Amino acid sequence: MNLTFSSFLKIGVLSLVVALSGCQFESAPKNVIKVGGKTMGTFYTITVVGDYPGGQDQLKNDAEQILGVINKEISIFDKSSILSKFNDSKSTEPFEITKDMADIISTSINVGYDVEGVMDVTVGPLVNLWGFGNKKDLAKKEPTPEEINEAKKYVGADKIHVTYSYGKYFLKKDHPDVFIDLATVGEGFGADKLSQLLDKKGIKNYMVAIAGAIRTRGSNARGTDWVIAIEDPANEQRVGESIEVPVCTKGKAISTAGSYRNFIESNGKRKSHAIDPFKGEPIDHDTVSVTVIGPTALWTDALDTGLLVWGADKALKYANENGIAIYTIVKDGNGFKSRYSRAMQEYLICK
Ligand code: ADP
Ligand code: MG
Repeated sequence: MNLTFSSFLKIGVLSLVVALSGCQFESAPKNVIKVGGKTMGTFYTITVVGDYPGGQDQLKNDAEQILGVINKEISIFDKSSILSKFNDSKSTEPFEITKDMADIISTSINVGYDVEGVMDVTVGPLVNLWGFGNKKDLAKKEPTPEEINEAKKYVGADKIHVTYSYGKYFLKKDHPDVFIDLATVGEGFGADKLSQLLDKKGIKNYMVAIAGAIRTRGSNARGTDWVIAIEDPANEQRVGESIEVPVCTKGKAISTAGSYRNFIESNGKRKSHAIDPFKGEPIDHDTVSVTVIGPTALWTDALDTGLLVWGADKALKYANENGIAIYTIVKDGNGFKSRYSRAMQEYLICK
């Protein structure tokens, strides 16, 4: 296939993924509605091919209403969110949460177990200690081994429990200092929710992106598969040249976790915002990004973080053993090299 890279849409400043327009030699483009804005400290975009009931303004209203609800549920930067209230509470009694929160947290716990605990939504005390969470003041200096060991006492998905009773969902922590951080899965969950909105409205062709978490369905304005490009970090400085690997989504969810955009400098070293919960430290290996394709963006967004923490070797072994499509980029001398799992191959050939 011959791709035209001329008009591409960059999704979010922190995103490692860019979405491309269609291919050459196809039928004339159809009518497209696009909306976008800020959410979760990043950007969202929705592209609908064809009409949306009520038009563009209605689409933006509907989307922002959904995103607003999610923020009120899981933002740790909004002190009045349900998750902030849970984190701030010292009670270890069951705390009522919404069904959506129960879904996000249960799925995250399950994916975390699948990857032996390297993705862990209770990593919050360590995230805060290193200055990536909502307690940035903690990170004036590098944490001591004692501080890291203290924070690690409250980390572990076995320390939180989601329960259901008489039509209500509850979350319980075993220790008052457990702190849940859903930053790594929020974008994926949001993309799934926006995708559900469009499905309910009967939209057959769309792409939804919140930063690096993307859902697609059907085809683009030219009637071909949605194409997403995985950005090569080697090119990030050269504006307009950042497109590297075209991935055909085939109606699936796709998301990327990366270690090179959000980091702090500490003792002359770059510390990534991806934390290894076992070491209690930001990862410092050579894998800079892992992209995952799968059925929902919540699932890919949870898994990409764990696979990034593992690094490319273990991530690829796991993906090949389990038939999961992943694409990794690893620092190699002054450049970068990419490796992908067997299941990824079909997404690299666009029809
Ligand atoms: P990216 O898309 O660049 O990978 P995300 O915003 O999706 O970044 O996720 C990074 C955030 O996830 C961190 O800022 C932190 O809040 C949280 N986090 C860091 N390490 C882990 C981990 N091992 N498991 C779960 N969440 C993590
Ligand atoms: Mg993630």
